[in-house]
Amino acid sequence: MLNLQMVDLKRQYGKIKPEIDAAIQNVVESTAYINGPDVHHFATELAAYLGVKHVIPCANGTDALQIALMALGLKPGDEVITTSYTYIATVEVVALLRLKPVFVDVDADTFTMNIESVNRAITPKTRAIIPVHLYGQSANMEPLIALAKQHNIPLIEDNAQAIGSSYAFSDGTVKKTGAMGIVGCTSFFPSKNLGCYGDGGAMFTNDDALAEKLKMIANHGQKTRYYHEMVGCNSRLDTIQAAILRIKLRHLDEYCNARRAAADYYDAAFANNPNIITPYRAPYTRHVFHQYTLQLKNVNRDEVQKKLTDKNIPCMIYYPVPCHKQNMLKEYGVADLYLPVTDMLQDCVISLPMHTELTEEELSYIANGLLEIVSNIG
Ligand SMILES: *Cc1c(COP(=O)(O)O)cnc(C)c1O
Repeated sequence: MLNLQMVDLKRQYGKIKPEIDAAIQNVVESTAYINGPDVHHFATELAAYLGVKHVIPCANGTDALQIALMALGLKPGDEVITTSYTYIATVEVVALLRLKPVFVDVDADTFTMNIESVNRAITPKTRAIIPVHLYGQSANMEPLIALAKQHNIPLIEDNAQAIGSSYAFSDGTVKKTGAMGIVGCTSFFPSKNLGCYGDGGAMFTNDDALAEKLKMIANHGQKTRYYHEMVGCNSRLDTIQAAILRIKLRHLDEYCNARRAAADYYDAAFANNPNIITPYRAPYTRHVFHQYTLQLKNVNRDEVQKKLTDKNIPCMIYYPVPCHKQNMLKEYGVADLYLPVTDMLQDCVISLPMHTELTEEELSYIANGLLEIVSNIG
């Protein structure tokens, strides 16, 4: 009997166990638990991988987004455009800082920010735009960058789900996701494409002054110890997590390729099935499949979910309630916003197991299981 999981971290660890164990042991012995040498080495190595000047590590992906917004000096009431079809963290930090979330719709094929909607949502009070590179592929950055530039609005990339992905501009330039906006943010939550063994996050930028500010905010608003120039927070990446991430960063491309290979298998299995729409791969980006998310058409999703569970095939709905309908945001009066694509997707998406260790036997069991269920429900 197969022991299927949405994400199998145990088997991935098994393959790099000696290296990981030694790295953890090394930190424990060194007692450099906070801001140890591994934190600085990891930041330098990740900056080289992404092609950015500065990587500022922090405690988690939510903090990364919050600190990025704080560093831009936004005032309460300033408008921040983002999508409702995302993980709540993207929006929560906007509300936490008393800024106003302005929701735009996504494209049905890519699940990422619709450029026309952004264009319509821009007002004189718009102070930032947060595109989310959802499920592992880049939002369509070229037109978005042009639009943002025209209005002089900074872009903060939420790259928590797409580290390792890239975007190809029409002039042939290729940039890593997270390296295109004024700040890129990511999460090293264990299940993310580059995950540690606890919480972690980072911000990326090419702007020297902004890097300095991000660093200060993450460290109680101080540059010199005990001299606090602004209100900041305490947001650090543990040395043990940095040591683990240094090892996993060396495998990131290989991990992304393993995810892509699993997606290829699923794509082929579901091709031409009228009830299953496989994830679209936009030509301008390299999809690194943080999630493998299908759209089910003309079948009862609840029933599919129940039958998959009966077959011990895990599945998840990312996300069952879009952000604008969350009680958290009630005071903004956004629950009845007209976001037709977001509403449509919320009712039909389903994500299958996706990780770096899926075997052909497992993929075949999952794909055949879903095909059988869908054809019987019909
Ligand atoms: C995971 C995630 C975050 C938050 O990261 P944490 O490390 O869990 O705080 C933010 N945005 C998106 C899109 C995510 O998937």
